[in-house]
Amino acid sequence: MAPLRMVILGRQGAGKGTQSQRLVAEFGCVHLSTGDALRAAVAAGTQLGRQAQSIMDSGGLVGDDVMNGIVRERLADEDVSSKGVLLDGYPRTAEQADALERILEGLEQRLDAAINIEVPVEAATERMLERGRSDDTVDAISRRLQLYEKQTAPLLDWFEARGLLVTVDGVGTLDEVFDRVVAGIESTAGGRL
Ligand code: AMP
Repeated sequence: MAPLRMVILGRQGAGKGTQSQRLVAEFGCVHLSTGDALRAAVAAGTQLGRQAQSIMDSGGLVGDDVMNGIVRERLADEDVSSKGVLLDGYPRTAEQADALERILEGLEQRLDAAINIEVPVEAATERMLERGRSDDTVDAISRRLQLYEKQTAPLLDWFEARGLLVTVDGVGTLDEVFDRVVAGIESTAGGRL
């Protein structure tokens, strides 16, 4: 099977993390979550982690250059090149989407699908409050949701214009949503599976 390169989108609390774990197990690709990468940097106390922590706690966005650098470095790694990748939490801005396109071009790779998991704001907020992450305070959640609508939701058109968008109803059991996602990927990236 050719390595798949995919992006998973959807407002925070849509269940991207859980679906991502299932997807990488199914398709054998590497899960690249920029939120996880930042949380690892915070836990390790690196310079990046120290800079990112307060931004993350407030629900803001870490700078595009920093994020593009993290992704550029990881996509060039041999395991990612050979196994493919599921990008989770990136791109989040138009600037990041353009950077991703340039990074992939430079590596002579291309995206196969952008999965958009749709969940209403109320359900997403409830799920975030349940998981209890340190940046899941009411204020930070509301800021993240606002930034998502303003900066990230417009990227759906960007992916649609490239014929990559797979929109899936994210309300349902884990298995139901997963089946919808896989069916969507098969119809969009089918020729390469
Ligand atoms: P997530 O785990 O995707 O919800 O990300 C947690 C936090 O990390 C976000 O609220 C942002 O502060 C930061 N973050 C993760 N990915 C990005 C990104 N692509 N661009 C900017 N900030 C990000």
